[in-house]
Amino acid sequence: MSYKLGVSYFSTRILRHLKNDLEDIKKHHCNFVLHTFDELDLFYNLENMRRITELTHRAGLKVYYSPWGLGGIFGGEAYSGFVMQHPSACQVLSTGERVGNACPRQPEFRRYVRSWIQGASRAGGDVLFWDEPHLWIAEWNGRKTREGEFSCRCDLCQKDFKRAYGKAFPRVWTKEVEEFRDETLVGFLEWATRETKKVNPRLKNAVCLLPMGDKKWPNPQWEHVASLPSVDIVATDPYWKQRPFSNPQKRPLKGFVDLYAGRIADLASRHGKEAQGWVQLFAHAKSGEKEITQALEIWEKAGVKNLAAWGYEACASYSLLACERPKQCWDLVGKHFGRLAGKK
Ligand SMILES: [Zn+2]
Repeated sequence: MSYKLGVSYFSTRILRHLKNDLEDIKKHHCNFVLHTFDELDLFYNLENMRRITELTHRAGLKVYYSPWGLGGIFGGEAYSGFVMQHPSACQVLSTGERVGNACPRQPEFRRYVRSWIQGASRAGGDVLFWDEPHLWIAEWNGRKTREGEFSCRCDLCQKDFKRAYGKAFPRVWTKEVEEFRDETLVGFLEWATRETKKVNPRLKNAVCLLPMGDKKWPNPQWEHVASLPSVDIVATDPYWKQRPFSNPQKRPLKGFVDLYAGRIADLASRHGKEAQGWVQLFAHAKSGEKEITQALEIWEKAGVKNLAAWGYEACASYSLLACERPKQCWDLVGKHFGRLAGKK
């Protein structure tokens, strides 16, 4: 297969700006665009999402959508209105605290996700990109991880746990809790990807798995997700550098990006799925720009031929995410994509 090359796109719903940007995206040798599709888009912007998709297709590019921040259980800088309107469908921590993230087992949330799938299908995209599905993570909610604090232990999770294990859901972390939490996400993804095919069999499903838990391989959760019949693409996004660009904290590419590139390639080939890799195109300081090309080379070496960068113009439109020199960083990706575009 020839290379599939893409970039994520967000921030504007003004079509004349999009038209210009699509030309720029093509000049950077992309053949697909991931349009984030958040709760605001679903409620206020469905017709514009259809127009955005039409323009993107007309430019010769495939369209991915991510449920950006939907219910607070996917990656993305978008806030969730669902969790404000449906507190009873939200996760509960082992400590009893209710948090602002939907529980993937709750029927009310699943009804909402179904409406998102239907909206995405109506808007006309090609791939639904289930991005970084996760249960509550302390650091992502502006607080430190405390020992013994985990999610989700809502009433429904307690009931399901009791049915599965014949005992009460412990308040402390056990092997069974770990297994049950994995099943909460895998069961949700199995349902969501199957629902997608029911709503529109033409739609593909990609699942982007969070690169966490370095030591455990094979990772049972990843194996389960890759084995789901309705999942077409398995992806991961080992972003090595903390935001903003002035923050010096980062992980070395070796031992992280190469580790996860190898893992996703291995997982995909064993399960007969397409592998996809995401490269960090945000929060780079000038001094770290060369790492963008190095990361792309790592993915290329791992044999992954579906590659994308997060996000357009090095996230210049989000100041917390922006690279120090967005244009230069975006051009580095374009240059590398240009080289790959000519390869088989
Ligand atoms: Zn729950």
